[in-house]
Amino acid sequence: MLTLNRVSRRYGETIALDGVDFVVPENTYMSLLGASGSGKTTLLRLIAGFEEPDQGEISINGARIDGQPSHLRDIGFVFQNFALFPHLTVFENVAFGLRHRVNAPVKNEKEIKERTDNALELVGLEGFGHRAVSAISGGQRQRVALARTLVTEPRIVLLDEPLGALDANLRSRMCDELKAIRERLKVSFLHVTGSETEALMMGDKVAVLADGKIVQTGAPDTLFAEPLNAASARHMNAWNIFDASLCAGPVGQGAIAVRFDQIDISATGQAPETRPHLKAKYLTGEFNGPTALSFFRAEDGTLLQIIDHLSQPRLPDLVEGESYDLHFAPDAVRQFHGAA
Ligand code: ADP
Ligand code: MG
Repeated sequence: MLTLNRVSRRYGETIALDGVDFVVPENTYMSLLGASGSGKTTLLRLIAGFEEPDQGEISINGARIDGQPSHLRDIGFVFQNFALFPHLTVFENVAFGLRHRVNAPVKNEKEIKERTDNALELVGLEGFGHRAVSAISGGQRQRVALARTLVTEPRIVLLDEPLGALDANLRSRMCDELKAIRERLKVSFLHVTGSETEALMMGDKVAVLADGKIVQTGAPDTLFAEPLNAASARHMNAWNIFDASLCAGPVGQGAIAVRFDQIDISATGQAPETRPHLKAKYLTGEFNGPTALSFFRAEDGTLLQIIDHLSQPRLPDLVEGESYDLHFAPDAVRQFHGAA
């Protein structure tokens, strides 16, 4: 189990991490979701020991690792841009970690070959060892980067936006494979990403990093359906967050959230009084195949989105620039502390 306790890191005036409490359990695929600049890479670099926290503690199974040299931590790191050696073959890229590691480099060629071949087989690259890394696809490079990390049998594997450089088709296939590889190894993966779909799809557990802190951790379905705060809801990209004072009808105060798929539309004045409702102007729609998105502007300027699944259409024909009443069930509302 990897534990971060009140970990902080600043760069000059920038507070990258501000008292992060975070646990990665054993044998778990953990995703960490955060916007660009939220401190994801910094967090991984602190765990790996490429830099040190200003404050706080990092430990594995109760033993402090912060302050230890990076090469003694037994932590694998898959870099965002793969960072392969372009002049070496696939085999030599993977073997490199064994041959040249500071701590107990492997000198026995037979052992190097066996372990490297195993790692290549694990990531589905058996038979590719002799290829130049410049002569393989993006997805295959990703696998080489992973094999190069796994060959050293790390205690935990950190993956920095590992799918960011791949195209959409490949990305979803690599998602499945990363999960399958991890399940075979039974070692924990900590996968950081800016994509909520990726985080929710990959993670046995998902944590959300915002404003330098972990704002929520949980199972993906819980996080999606029951965000505990506005920051967490915002990261799910499925919730409208607005101030309850915009609404008439049965609703609380302060910041509330209603999911894109749980809002209905009526002509002005036609919303049922038993449901919270607010006035908003229809801006435009976006057709995405199986779903349609409609965008509205509330009276305080908040942008609202409504999603409609075309298998069960429920939206009226909307006229751009017209005002409508948006309404929802009282129990569809999530209530947060503070302002929206
Ligand atoms: P992410 O990986 O989530 O995009 P980073 O961890 O790279 O975020 O960066 C978090 C914040 O810390 C950003 O504001 C970034 O500009 C800043 N930062 C990161 N590394 C450095 C550094 N070496 N020097 C100065 N600022 C840095
Ligand atoms: Mg980053």
